Amino acid sequence: MNSLEPWNLVFLAGFAVYFWIRHVFLQRTRNEKKVVSRFDRSEQIRLATMFPQVILVPLLYLFTPVLAFADYRLPDFVPWLGAGIMVASLWLFWRSHADLGQNWSVSLEIREGHQLVTRGVYRHIRHPMYASIWLWAFAQGMLLQNWLAGWLVAPVFAVIYSLRTPREEQMMCDTFGDQYRDYMRRTGRLFPRIMKASVSHGQENDG
Ligand code: SAH
Repeated sequence: MNSLEPWNLVFLAGFAVYFWIRHVFLQRTRNEKKVVSRFDRSEQIRLATMFPQVILVPLLYLFTPVLAFADYRLPDFVPWLGAGIMVASLWLFWRSHADLGQNWSVSLEIREGHQLVTRGVYRHIRHPMYASIWLWAFAQGMLLQNWLAGWLVAPVFAVIYSLRTPREEQMMCDTFGDQYRDYMRRTGRLFPRIMKASVSHGQENDG
């Protein structure tokens, strides 16, 4: 192992919880039928691109010396902050799976009897799960003191997020029509809308 630093272990523990949450909800939804799937080639390539940055690079850093050339030292308070952000990220990751319930899927899919969820963590923002992954990316950078293992995930996720989110919203509009468009008007993508009243039709695509 590169170093058995306590922060690396904290990261590993969070990593395990992250995959445990995914596993639990994959099991819970595995029998739900899909009626629409936009899990096409481009989506498959996107998910496959994410895999090495999310899993392989941190593991290489943690268990081999090959990335040691990119090590650096952060002020002591930064990993503490990172650990706090990681806990917030895991909470939001778990809550968004729980609130989506049987409607959740890894990719862009609509289930049989799919319900539009607008409560819980979906009440004010449309993409709490992606918000939790953003938080995770920042937490990773603050915990793993290595430029590549810490920060590579953020630009990779930025590309995936910006390509996937409009496609997902298009799929939801195609499925739920005005119900989803109204929901878009009331909510922000990652941050709650502050000025609901001043938003006019057709301007629902904020950041
Ligand atoms: N973008 C959301 C969900 C990610 S999971 C988030 O970040 O929280 C992706 C799947 O969730 C999509 O295939 C879609 O079918 C489903 N989904 C997204 N938003 C939803 C909503 N408000 N209600 C029900 N299902 C939703």
